[in-house]
Amino acid sequence: MLEVLEKALTITEKKRIDVLRINEIFYSIQGEGSRAGEPCVFIRLTGCGLRCTYCDTEYAFYEGEDRTQDNILDQIRSYDCKLIELTGGEPLEQEGVYPLITTLCNEDYEVMIETGGHVDISRVDPRVKCIVDLKTPSSGMQSRNLTVNIPYLKNSICSLDHR
Ligand code: SF4
Repeated sequence: MLEVLEKALTITEKKRIDVLRINEIFYSIQGEGSRAGEPCVFIRLTGCGLRCTYCDTEYAFYEGEDRTQDNILDQIRSYDCKLIELTGGEPLEQEGVYPLITTLCNEDYEVMIETGGHVDISRVDPRVKCIVDLKTPSSGMQSRNLTVNIPYLKNSICSLDHR
């Protein structure tokens, strides 16, 4: 009985890592940051634990479909583009994003992540450029800024959401 339960848990854990909830994947032009103006593939993940007053991607809180790592990678590889941005929602809340990021880095993609700053970025592959949106008081989410992220910002971009 214990063996069956352990096997079921292993399968559940594997699915948790292999399947990501994706809002959309699209090929466009990077609109901000050091790579502004360059072609880029955007991966928007579903879900976010914050509720900023000025959020312009509320549609990504719940909308999306479950997709396997292989299915996501197949679409990304179909574009002639080596620049990737993971965004959301909050891209770092899903466990499967970490192996996806490492696979992309291993395949020589340049990976950027736009994160809200409330998730520990120390787990992110060090080859990735993290763009951390520190929350200002007007967001209503200032208390969720994670100060343990600060030492990891030396190779990253720190932006202040001030809308
Ligand atoms: S962190 Fe980003 S996606 Fe999440 S509520 Fe704030 S603005 Fe919206």
